This record gives sequence, structure tokens and C-alpha cells, in this order.
Amino acid sequence: MRVSIERNGMNQEKEAYDLVVIGGGPGGYTAAVRARQLGMRVALIERETLGGVCLNWGCIPTKALLRQAEVWSLLSRGGEFGFALSGAKYDWQQVVDRSRDTADGLAQGVAFLMKKNGVDVLNGTGRVTPLRKVEVRDNVDAVAHVLEANHILIATGSTPRSLPGIEIDGEHIISSRQAMVLESLPSDILIVGAGAIGVEFAYFFNAFGSRVTLLESLPQILPREDEEAAESLRASLERQGVAVETDARVRGVEVLSDGVQVGYEMGGGKREVTVERVLMAVGVSGQSRGLGLEALGVRMRDGAIEIDERQQTSVEGIWAIGDVAGPPQLAHVASAEGIAAVDFMAGRSRLGVDRNVVPNCIYSHPQVASVGLSEAEALAQGLDVKVGRFPFAASGKARAAGETEGFVKLVFGSRYGELLGGVIVGAEATELIGELALGLRLEATYEELLHTIHAHPTMAEGIMEAAGEAFGEAINI
Ligand code: NAD
Repeated sequence: MRVSIERNGMNQEKEAYDLVVIGGGPGGYTAAVRARQLGMRVALIERETLGGVCLNWGCIPTKALLRQAEVWSLLSRGGEFGFALSGAKYDWQQVVDRSRDTADGLAQGVAFLMKKNGVDVLNGTGRVTPLRKVEVRDNVDAVAHVLEANHILIATGSTPRSLPGIEIDGEHIISSRQAMVLESLPSDILIVGAGAIGVEFAYFFNAFGSRVTLLESLPQILPREDEEAAESLRASLERQGVAVETDARVRGVEVLSDGVQVGYEMGGGKREVTVERVLMAVGVSGQSRGLGLEALGVRMRDGAIEIDERQQTSVEGIWAIGDVAGPPQLAHVASAEGIAAVDFMAGRSRLGVDRNVVPNCIYSHPQVASVGLSEAEALAQGLDVKVGRFPFAASGKARAAGETEGFVKLVFGSRYGELLGGVIVGAEATELIGELALGLRLEATYEELLHTIHAHPTMAEGIMEAAGEAFGEAINI
């Protein structure tokens, strides 16, 4: 098979690609590297910057901002550690710039990775046409390349969505993308949606001194998380100064000359607030439009590209991974799906992505991280469970570090003591969750967690103790 590449009106003949990936985020670029490892010839099409939303406008720059908020909060707690710090100031522009520098540096790293692995990167917008061809259009919508491929992988990610009748104008009503590069700290901000983005930005803006209201339409913040964990985070955010309103439904948003007026309903009553900015954080929609997929008969389900357990769409040879293929819309899931999809294309014998072991991490302070079944989910499945808890207030390391908020909560099958899931609220929760993810993957029992010697003093001892607590064998609680 040959591929014809048109450049500057000239036709060039080239070897066919085994794989053309559309989208250079954590799903797409990971898949491209994996395909090169398996000896495939790979082209990667990206219209913005390599690294996608995660690296440029999501996970990475927000983690830089959140770290800065944490450092700032720690400074304000200086007295607890014996420091008399006065006159501490921050430079907002430098706060934003550090986050951008972090993202930019990593995006260059991905470009280097592509080069090192021999992936052909094409800048432009990809569109699938019949007979497994992919057009690459440039910024004036002219076809710059036409590629042919054995396999086409759609990894185009997602964009923030809004509510009906409320348009994200990027100035008064913003998405997370604008929230991370604001020219100045808003004096007050209302955040609609208390999922991952809502909670992280509520922590961030509040830590730097904005008045923050966090609105959630469901009864608890982080609605997919364990209720105790979500309540614990809510109490902490409220202690820090965030106004949290649950069961709250936005009625309307109006941009005025002096701010944005938001009307919402809560507890049967109507409320109205005027704030400098509104951040919409009500989820994301997959970017599947304009890819030519409908014409090829690629089936959709609930707004996402329908895939089978091997990540293949309803059309043979067209595969989809990451946010565009539906929830959970997480960077690490996209990467895992990308590797799995390529392994299947290459005919390797393996199982699909293990969807029972997907860590979910929220990087507020305290952090929240979970994996596997929550207690409520296990009970809803009719499982007989034992639950163990360990509060960080009882941890020597947590006390020494001044990070006593939060707890470890583990869920086990009561008969065999097998780990079913766990949630951690606390300073290092997003790091600690890895132990539970591996434990689940290896079908660990409570005894294996309990009898694994955990270094002392560490926050991780909380996992060992919670495992013991579930079966009446904890030592330090
Ligand atoms: P999300 O789905 O996590 O949360 C959206 C929240 O908005 C939910 O709690 C939902 O109940 C609420 N909501 C929906 N309609 C509402 C309404 N009308 N009024 C009030 N609340 C409403 O989505 P997100 O926080 O926007 O994040 C987008 C995606 O990015 C998610 O898939 C998320 O997992 C991912 N993400 C992950 C991280 C992380 O892993 N740390 C960080 C940021 C984003």
C-alpha cells in the first residue's frame, strides 16, 4: 500500500502508514509511541499543541497552580511551624506564568518524544474520508496532506460544555481554560459544578483570596465519590472559606456592566448573586464532530463514539480512545486505552483496559483519591462488606507534617477479605492511591495489606491500619 502526500501542490509517494492517530493528547501520543515500539509506521495529526488539553490546558498547568496555592496557604500557616512571616505577597502574573512555563516545557518534551520514537507529526486538522484515508487541513482549511492507513485512531479529546442558554464568553462566563490564565485574581467567583474542575478551582481561588461560591445541582459535591469523603472535603472547603451550595439549580445568568448576575434555586427558595466571574465546570463533551465519522457509519452512544472492549468503533479499522469515547474522561484512562488499542491492532493477545481499577484523583487540599468500589457501590451490588477506617489525626507522619485532615477508608469482602475499593482524603491522597490500585489489580486481601511492612513514619501506614481496622486488627487506632 502506498500513501500520497501532497505538499505545496507537489505529490510525493511515501510508504503507507500502519497507523494514523488524530489528536496528540495523552491518549494519542502514548498510542503513537506504543505503535512505534511494535514496529508500526505512525503519523500523528495535531492541530494545536502536542500534549493536548491535559498537558497544555488541564492536568498539568492546574497542578502547578494548585501547588502554588498550597505553598501560599502554607505560608499563611507559618505561625504553626514557628515562623513569624509578615508582609508575604504574591505576584499574580508570576503565579500564572509558572503554570504556563510548566505546561510549555512538557509540551516540548512530547515533541522530543515523538522525534525520538520516529513518529511523523503533522500539524493540522484531521478528517477521515472513505477507504481509510485521512485528510490533514491547514489553518485556512486547505487540504495539506492526504494519508492512507491500515488503522485510524481517533483521540480528539473533549471541550468544556455549558448549560442550555448560557454561553461561555471567555470573559465573564469562563471555562477552566480561561480560569487558569486570568489577568488578575477575581474578587469573587461563582463556580457551577462541584466535580473535579469545580472543586480544584474553588480551592485555588479561595486560597489566593477570592470569595468563592461553589454550586452543585446534586446533593453532594464530587457526586461520584464516597459520601463520607465528599462530606469531609466539603467541611474542609467551608472551613477554608468557600461557600458550598448543593441541591442548587442555576435558573439564569445575565452579564451586567458591573459583573454577572446568577439566579439559582435551592431548598425551594430563589437566590440571586452578582459576581465578577462565573466558571462553568459542568463536564465536557467529546470532540467527534467534523471528523467525517457520521458519513462512514461510525456509531455514537450517549454523545460518545461507541467502542467495543478492544477500542474499535463500529467500523473496522477505525478505533477511538480517551474523552471522545466517553467516560471516565481521564488522561490516564486515555493513555491506557491508547496502548490497548494499538496492542489489539498489532494482534497481540491481551485483555482490554481494566475498568475496575481506575484511580480518580482530586487535587484540592485536602486531596481526594479513590479506586474500585465505594462502600455504597459494594452494598448496592449486594456484597457483604467490611469497612476499615484510619484518620490521619492518628498518624505520626501526618501530625509531624501538620497534615492531619482526612482519612483512609477501605472496603473489603467480608468472607475472603479481598480488597474491593478504597478512598483517601488527605495531603498525599493522590500518591497513596497507587498502592490501592496495585492491591486491587493483584486481588490483595486485607492480610496482604496489613502484613506488608509499611515504612514508619509515613502517611501510607494509614492504609495498613485501615486494613487492620476492618477486621479488628489495627494497632494504632
Ligand atoms: P465532572 O463531570 O467531574 O463534574 C461536573 C459537575 O457538575 C458534577 O458534579 C455535576 O453534578 C455538576 N453539574 C452538572 N450540571 C449542573 C448544573 N446545572 N448546576 C450545577 N452543577 C451541575 O466535570 P468537570 O469537573 O467539568 O471536569 C470535566 C472532566 O475533566 C471530567 O471528566 C473530570 O473527571 C476531568 N477532570 C479530572 C481532573 C482530575 O482528575 N483531577 C481534574 C479536572 C478535570
